Amino acid sequence: MNINHLSASNIDQQHIWHPYSAIGAGHSVFHVASADGCILKLQDGRELIDGMASWWSVIHGYNNPQINEALKKQLDLMSHVMFGGLTHDPAIKLATKLIEITPPTLETVFFSDSGSVAVEVAMKMAIQYWASKNLPQKQHFISARNGYHGDTLGTMSVCDPVTGMHSLFSKTLTQQYFIPAPQTPFGESCDESELTDLRQTLENHHHDISAIIIEPIVQGAGGMRFYSADYLQKTRALADEFGVLLIFDEIATGFGRTGKLFACEHTSITPDIMCIGKALTGGYMTLAATLTTRDISETISSGDPGIFMHGPTFMANPLACTAALVSTTLLLESPWEKRIDNIEQQLKQGLEQCITLPNVQQVRVLGGIGVVELNESVDMRTIQPLFVEQGVWIRPFGKLVYVMPPYIIKDAQLKTLCDAIYHVISAL
Ligand SMILES: *Cc1c(COP(=O)(O)O)cnc(C)c1O
Repeated sequence: MNINHLSASNIDQQHIWHPYSAIGAGHSVFHVASADGCILKLQDGRELIDGMASWWSVIHGYNNPQINEALKKQLDLMSHVMFGGLTHDPAIKLATKLIEITPPTLETVFFSDSGSVAVEVAMKMAIQYWASKNLPQKQHFISARNGYHGDTLGTMSVCDPVTGMHSLFSKTLTQQYFIPAPQTPFGESCDESELTDLRQTLENHHHDISAIIIEPIVQGAGGMRFYSADYLQKTRALADEFGVLLIFDEIATGFGRTGKLFACEHTSITPDIMCIGKALTGGYMTLAATLTTRDISETISSGDPGIFMHGPTFMANPLACTAALVSTTLLLESPWEKRIDNIEQQLKQGLEQCITLPNVQQVRVLGGIGVVELNESVDMRTIQPLFVEQGVWIRPFGKLVYVMPPYIIKDAQLKTLCDAIYHVISAL
């Protein structure tokens, strides 16, 4: 088929899938030509302040000179090489750094290409761990409602069953155990009764359960909900009591977004397995990682078949590892805590005005995340162009209008984002 005669926007509409989108007219997208700092430059010349950091990832802004330079150097050395039987400096240096900055109990790293795959790997590791301990029936997972862990079939099985449309995939998705979403707000201690369902599920089914998987402190794409650190402490205790592993999915929360380098640092506990992704490369390349304890990696390595059963073609891609190493170094050398604290203060002030609007249910802010929850779901086709008219890039979903800007955003840009949210919501 020759589609050369079509305009760029027609090719896009008729032939290219976008995330959670459909093919065909009415699914218009904005054509971006380049990006720099916190600004997206559209092909028609308009400039938008980026409120999304390209889904949590672009923490240093676009077109960062240090990451650019490091990537150009690495490109001339080696852009890719297979990781089976071979290794390289970018992987070794990045693994060293990740082991240094994540909780001390996490000692081994599995690199993969995307967050979803990092979660798949975590789930497979949990299953293989128990199989190596002669408990091969422990293959199910406990997950919280409103959770989001990825789009592949394995990860979908632990996403919220309603928003994840489990009914549509019922014949192929593994049935997992769901507990209610954590309710106690962040900063408060939670009552033991909130864990009743979890305790009950563990009591009844721990023989079948390999791990509890949860996004610590912030449930992201499943509702942008912030919850009590104490809930996680109590979850850890129950996991230990009933002999199941605890997996933290820090793909959204990692690298400073909640005000701690990793969200688990809001607690005094550590997970057995931790997934990171998104901001890992500063949004430059696709890369994710699954970290585990020595106990888990040694148990898997000494069990049957004596190897971990996963190995992506582009595992530990040298360009991606280089971007991640430089991005992480930049972050740690920057005054990131001060920046997140400032973003939090600005978002609290800037979004406060929204609470007076009749269609707004709640405004909540944590670290570099600001959320305005509406009473009803937005119509993306009307709301998206309104934000672009205000000169900002904000992409709501469902009832949620939210921002998580690059950490380098200026106060004036942040104010523009908050004012745009107020104006657009009041015009709905
Ligand atoms: C985005 C996300 C994922 C999936 O990552 P992809 O790179 O999109 O596959 C998994 N878990 C959480 C918490 C996420 O935010």
